[in-house]
Amino acid sequence: MKPEQNLMILRNCRYLITQNAKRDIFEQVDIEIQDNTIKRIGKNIATKSSDDSGVIDCSERIVMPGLVNTHTHLGMHSLRGICDDAELKDWLSIVTKAEETLDEEAVYENTLAGLREAVRFGTTTLYDSFKHPRARVRAFEKMGVRGLISASVYNKKDLKAAEQFISTINSPLLRPVIAAHSIYMTEESVLREVIAVSDDKKILRRIHVGETRKERFDIQQQRGKLPIEYLESIGFLDPKALLVHCIWITKGEIRLIGRAGAKVSHNPISNMKLASGGVMPLVEMLQEKVVVGLGTDSVASNNNLDLFEEMKLTPLLHKQHRWDPKVITPQQVLDIVTVNGAACLGLSDVGSIEIGMKADIITLDIGEHMRPVNDLLSNIVYCANGNDVNDAIIDGKVVMRNKELRKA
Ligand SMILES: [Zn+2]
Repeated sequence: MKPEQNLMILRNCRYLITQNAKRDIFEQVDIEIQDNTIKRIGKNIATKSSDDSGVIDCSERIVMPGLVNTHTHLGMHSLRGICDDAELKDWLSIVTKAEETLDEEAVYENTLAGLREAVRFGTTTLYDSFKHPRARVRAFEKMGVRGLISASVYNKKDLKAAEQFISTINSPLLRPVIAAHSIYMTEESVLREVIAVSDDKKILRRIHVGETRKERFDIQQQRGKLPIEYLESIGFLDPKALLVHCIWITKGEIRLIGRAGAKVSHNPISNMKLASGGVMPLVEMLQEKVVVGLGTDSVASNNNLDLFEEMKLTPLLHKQHRWDPKVITPQQVLDIVTVNGAACLGLSDVGSIEIGMKADIITLDIGEHMRPVNDLLSNIVYCANGNDVNDAIIDGKVVMRNKELRKA
């Protein structure tokens, strides 16, 4: 006999932002979820059970895909506020020392706390990199959150450990990533091995690049090429490559990224807080059809995991920088934090609410600070905040209901 399927209905969604290919927005519709998959979207879907268990009333909610955070270091959760007013070089030396005090159990507890914070603020998928990856896997599994997980590789020893870790991941919600820290902290021979592991295992490869002006000039001096040109020359650029930050890069480098189909994680709050200077050329990237996602980076340089805050800040930064309020629309911002974020992480079954997709869904209260009848997407980008999130469903399971996290 087939085991009984888990059924859930999100009843009468006041607004449903689908993020499907047509970017449909529906009003007063139901969503039926069977096990972990969205099965039906429509009016008045009948309930099979005689009672209302498994039915969530969404008649006063905005329902939308769960948000995707393309760059975090959750293991640093307890380091929030330890170094607020320093540039990257000084920040790294202070924060790296503090990281050394974190043992495996501390990383586990920090990751769990980070996941609680992220889910409360509506994030359902995160790419997380730090040490003690197995402890972080335990935390993701305990919370039931979708994740991509890596340990940063600086040298050959790290590479061995990373390869070993990759072979241990066996969870429907988790995928491994091979992550080089950066060009300036990872030798070329190791970078080439990172590429080989990513190709061999068909997994994402990630690197921090173009974060500071100094990095750009140092690399140009040491390696004779601009950072992205250098990555291209060693074969790093590829649709499996996720490039984090990309502030100090030229138009020619953007074209290289676009041509290779590599992806970019934009972390505007962290960049502003560390005074990285310049502004990530998001508008040019979108013109070159580069797929860009949003990331918070760690809470030691943000200092929270609220992607709604990141969503608002992103268009404000680029409008102000370009002296042009039309450079980016609320729809583009929403794409960056949902479907495009998922694409950055190589995930094609989350990021939108449509039949056949995995059920990663959040619901939002419609508070007095919102006026969705005027422009729903503008309300999401410019009015909503993480505290508006009421429910979070990941892979068909309720992880937060009425702002209460499920007991992990
Ligand atoms: Zn980072």
